[in-house]
Order: sequence, then structure tokens, then C-alpha cells
Amino acid sequence: MLAAYRELAQKVDYPFHIGVTEAGTPRRGSIKSAVGIGALLAEGIGDTLRVSLAGDPLEEVFVAKEILRSLGLYNEGVNYIVCPTCGRTKIDLPRIAAELEARVEALPIAKPLTLAVMGCVVNGPGEAREADFGLAGGAGEGVLFARGQVIGKYPEAQLVDKLVELIEQKI
Ligand code: SF4
Repeated sequence: MLAAYRELAQKVDYPFHIGVTEAGTPRRGSIKSAVGIGALLAEGIGDTLRVSLAGDPLEEVFVAKEILRSLGLYNEGVNYIVCPTCGRTKIDLPRIAAELEARVEALPIAKPLTLAVMGCVVNGPGEAREADFGLAGGAGEGVLFARGQVIGKYPEAQLVDKLVELIEQKI
């Protein structure tokens, strides 16, 4: 697929509709699509795209948008910056990030928004401060930020509720 589009792009000046056909089930197919479509877009090849998964078509749209977002070609909705966790993480960050994502999905977000969910006080505050809304975890607690300002420190169990509340107030 990559070789075919690259070769064609050398020969003709037509707009290209790109995609990886028969990419597979959502988990593997998303990765295959991201690699194939993303590589071409990064080279400037591709004008429209489709993601083809053996699954829910809504998932195809989600993956397509995230591929574009990763390349800086789409900024509608929410951009998440989430730390990968390490020995410094003292809160259940994967659960917090997943819950936050699910709750925010239900909100009427009209403008592009960046949310940072970070695990520690070493690298967390910087990212959290630069995002529209952010969280920097500590030991069983975390500090919340809104547009660069510290909002307060809350116990781990309250972090998602407080952050969602903040986002709702400001959007
Ligand atoms: S932000 Fe902190 S907890 Fe997360 S990976 Fe980086 S150093 Fe580790």
C-alpha cells in the first residue's frame, strides 16, 4: 500500500484517497491503519482517508480523527496528554485517565481542548500547567490546574469529579 501510493504520487498529480484495506479487528487494525495512513500523510501524500476495521464504523471515525490529530492535521475536540506511569506514580493513573476520558466524552466540548493527566510532582506540574486543564498526581492525591493556575489539592478519589466539574464550569 505504501509503495503503491508513493509510486503513484511520483507519476500523477491527482488527489489520493488513502487507507489500509482489510486492516483487521479494531485493536490491530487501528495500529496497521495508523502506520500506513500516518506514514503517507507525514510525507504529504493523501487528501482524503478512510479507516477500515472489522468492527463498529464509529470506531473507524474515531481512529481516523486520532491519526489526523497525531499529525497536527485535526484539532477539534479533546487532545489528551497522559503520562505513561513509572516508579514515581503513586496514584491509579490509568483508571483516572480512563474515567476522565469517558466522562469528558459526554460533555458538549465545542472548542479544541487539551487535558493533561500526569502521575507525579516531578514532570507533572509543567505539562498540567500548559494544558487547558491538568492534574499532577502525588501520593494518594493530586493537584489540579486550570489554564495555568493551581486550583487546589484533592484526594485521589475526588480528582476526576473535581476536574470534570472544573471543565464543565469553564466550557
Ligand atoms: S510524569 Fe512522572 S509519573 Fe509520569 S512517567 Fe513521567 S516521571 Fe513517571
